[in-house]
Amino acid sequence: MSRWILVLNAGSSSLKFALVNGTTAEESFSGLAECLGAGDARVTFHSEHGNQTLPISDGAMETAISMMMEKLPLDRHPVAIGHRVVHGGERFRQAVLIDDDVLAGIDVCSSLAPLHNPANLQGIAAARRLFPDLPQVAVFDTAFHSGLPEKAYHYAIPIELYDKFGVRRYGFHGTSHHYVAMQAADILHRSFNETQVISAHLGNGCSVTAVKSGQSIDTSMGMTPLEGVVMGTRSGDVDPGIIFWLAEQQAMSVEEIGDLLNKKSGLLGLSTLSNDMRTLEEASANGHQGAQLAIDVFCYRLAKTISALTVGLDRLDALIFTGGIGENSRLIRQTVTDQLALLNLFSDPDKNANNGDNTKGHIERDGSVPILVIPTDEEYMIASQTLALI
Ligand code: AMP
Repeated sequence: MSRWILVLNAGSSSLKFALVNGTTAEESFSGLAECLGAGDARVTFHSEHGNQTLPISDGAMETAISMMMEKLPLDRHPVAIGHRVVHGGERFRQAVLIDDDVLAGIDVCSSLAPLHNPANLQGIAAARRLFPDLPQVAVFDTAFHSGLPEKAYHYAIPIELYDKFGVRRYGFHGTSHHYVAMQAADILHRSFNETQVISAHLGNGCSVTAVKSGQSIDTSMGMTPLEGVVMGTRSGDVDPGIIFWLAEQQAMSVEEIGDLLNKKSGLLGLSTLSNDMRTLEEASANGHQGAQLAIDVFCYRLAKTISALTVGLDRLDALIFTGGIGENSRLIRQTVTDQLALLNLFSDPDKNANNGDNTKGHIERDGSVPILVIPTDEEYMIASQTLALI
């Protein structure tokens, strides 16, 4: 049987796709549709023949998927489609084959993730129409965190909000944390169930997770991806009192405050320059004070969160860095680990400068708890979980 899985990640105005071998992790074809719903909607294909960008005449996600269908390599027909779905609520604790009942369940979770789940559903609906014969699987960003203990997932607010509406911490980036934690267990020659690590997924969105006994036991994101550490444009944790202050003293609406905390804060808000860490590193090296402040706050809060998340562990087998920043930024890894000496975490400047030693991504110096740089591969995780279900 073919092992090729089409992996789809549908957002509100974008669609990422990749054709991935669910056994070997080989990726043979991938791409991105952007600006969906707008006049300049376009889709870019990456394959062994190079890159190609084409306009999407009506800007529709379904058109983007049908354009992609025509480009799929003929000898690698997918046997199933794996969809990334952001919020699985309390119902979806692992990946599932999609049927009408599952679709209704994902729709129920939309109230918890109004920015994400409706777009995921749109992608699933379009793929079901265009590939009616292929099984489709939903892989949830929240699933790896579904075993969080009660003490980690409750907010200290009236319990009826949880009982009636499911207001609690769920966590995200689960597919990525799960993947890198399994890789770390391999690298450390331990069984996954007996590995205790902290993983820091640092991309445009950032989160930190403590992994023990093969599952997430605590994580920095909450009911929504806004909680936790500083991100590209999201604030991470703030005093909720600021929200009342903005409403009462600055007469801001709920929408304006949501926009401020989700899209104008984080690295962008602090630096007034950019949400992009590469840009900030260059600017701070050239003396830009805002960029330096953004990097300082990002690293300090990240170190503080890593440290806090160790309380649920019996020991620390490794700290993992992943995501665009975690995999590439020597400066951020160094600045974070420099503040974690109490946990016996010390990076080696040479290994760190090379994004890890040649073989296994170690960047710690002798005598330190292992610090690992592990490239994440969410597409492969989605493909392998999809393959396992069909
Ligand atoms: P992701 O969302 O995982 O693609 O990560 C995007 C983030 O990674 C952006 O903030 C990029 O600036 C950052 N990034 C990528 N490469 C580098 C690099 N070489 N140095 C610092 N940051 C980087």
